[in-house]
Amino acid sequence: MSTYDVRTLEGGTVTLAEAAVSEFADRLRGRLVLPDDGDYDQVRTVWNGLVDKHPALIARCAGNTDVSAAVEFARAHGILTSVRGGGHNVAGSALCEDGLVIDLSTMRGVYVDAKARLARAQGGVTLGELDRETTGFGLATPVGLVSRTGIAGLTLGGGFGWLTRAHGLSCDNLRSVDVVTADGALRRASQEENPDLFWAVRGGGGNFGVVTSFEYELHPIGPQVMMAVVIYPIEMAERGMQFFRDFMRQAPDGLMALIELATMPGEAPFPEAHQGEPMIVFAAVYSGDVAEGERVVAPLRTFAQPLVDFSGPVSWMDAQSFFDADYPDGRYYYWKSAFVDDISDDLLPVLVESCLRRPSELSTVDLWYLGGAMARHEPGDSAFWTRNAETMIGLEANWIKPDQSDANINWTRGVVEALQPYSTGGSYANFGGFGVEADNPVRKIYGGNYERLALIKRRYDPDNLFRVNHNIEPG
Ligand SMILES: Cc1cc2nc3c(=O)[nH]c(=O)nc-3n(C[C@H](O)[C@H](O)[C@H](O)COP(=O)(O)OP(=O)(O)OC[C@H]3O[C@@H](n4cnc5c(N)ncnc54)[C@H](O)[C@@H]3O)c2cc1C
Repeated sequence: MSTYDVRTLEGGTVTLAEAAVSEFADRLRGRLVLPDDGDYDQVRTVWNGLVDKHPALIARCAGNTDVSAAVEFARAHGILTSVRGGGHNVAGSALCEDGLVIDLSTMRGVYVDAKARLARAQGGVTLGELDRETTGFGLATPVGLVSRTGIAGLTLGGGFGWLTRAHGLSCDNLRSVDVVTADGALRRASQEENPDLFWAVRGGGGNFGVVTSFEYELHPIGPQVMMAVVIYPIEMAERGMQFFRDFMRQAPDGLMALIELATMPGEAPFPEAHQGEPMIVFAAVYSGDVAEGERVVAPLRTFAQPLVDFSGPVSWMDAQSFFDADYPDGRYYYWKSAFVDDISDDLLPVLVESCLRRPSELSTVDLWYLGGAMARHEPGDSAFWTRNAETMIGLEANWIKPDQSDANINWTRGVVEALQPYSTGGSYANFGGFGVEADNPVRKIYGGNYERLALIKRRYDPDNLFRVNHNIEPG
């Protein structure tokens, strides 16, 4: 008779009898995947190739009741537990070594109530799947920029995308969630029901339970939007960033824009003469009327003579997947961030110099221009703390060869350090390196909301079952 050695919450090992594991498997409408199963390696694989964890048990849940069963099993045996939504967290926190993964990646239902302008989506849904269902009704909610990432981790950590300045973060657009808390109970949380839990999940990550579905407010979109993607030589980067900053300070909230300092890919449709050269990219989407959008984005296209200009009207789905090809599964990724209140002139050379000395040509330094609707919330309105920064600087180390890992990770950490004099001190949970690290303590993410979060954690998860995340200890 087999037994299973499983890691406990305290870091020890508990040996589970086969009967206990079979009984758990029988409780699931979905499937319990074990290390001997033929598809175990496939099921334990996540997007980031740096992550190679071997869970003891993977509960592929089919619905709320499976999630409750998994939570009860984990609690009964004191098992280390992680939760998987779309499996795209950079730190690989969907998985845990030798523990139990509560895997929602097969829970992919989306229901749209077009009249009420609401969509309810299950915890394993990807951004592209949500967009696909809502755009059928000419509606969308703010999500991120790459269609294959999960809504769950994105929304629980905040959620930045092309609609952030128009309609706020993904978490700002939540109207309710269904959550299985650490006691195994399924609860609805909204402004009316369990409002403390609702406050906490809007930016507090996976600390408070397993969210089995998210209900979002929807907004009219498309069918087409105006997208600007304009590339200038890196020699213009400082002047370009000054121009971009001054332009965005006057721009309407319907325009969301970012800058990427990157390398021009070595393939068509990029101009051959400049392939492989560093570049500055202006990328923007105007989410209102297309003709108005053409007028609004025009200055980004004419600031100087571009190397190439891919701008034009596109469908909302195309805008939402424009960057997909840059992030294939299995490549190596290490991302961090710093919020900055003011894009000052003396910050700009630091960014350009950081770009030029990155070890991998695939890596980028990104400036997300913030403000608009996300800044109209107070930092205490929900768990998401940093509301008033002018920009979030994202540092994306992306590379292919495993022997380049140290150089890339060190580059990212070095740039974060160099940015500290300019930063609010805050960072974005969803661009979180390997999770909680010395230069990314959890209090930097939650700021002045930390104490309240710790109290809510004590109420809903007193034993800290949900700890494989940017962990808030019960207060
Ligand atoms: C290619 C790429 C592009 C990205 N672009 C953007 C972007 O444009 N804007 C942006 O804001 N972010 C972006 N991100 C960051 C992204 O938001 C995070 O990586 C996010 O964690 C992904 O969510 P997921 O569900 O796929 O993650 P997972 O790895 O499945 O989960 C991450 C963590 O979230 C928690 N969690 C997941 N599901 C649940 C659940 N159902 N209930 C409770 N807790 C849960 C768990 O703690 C888990 O460890 C991007 C990431 C990638 C990889």
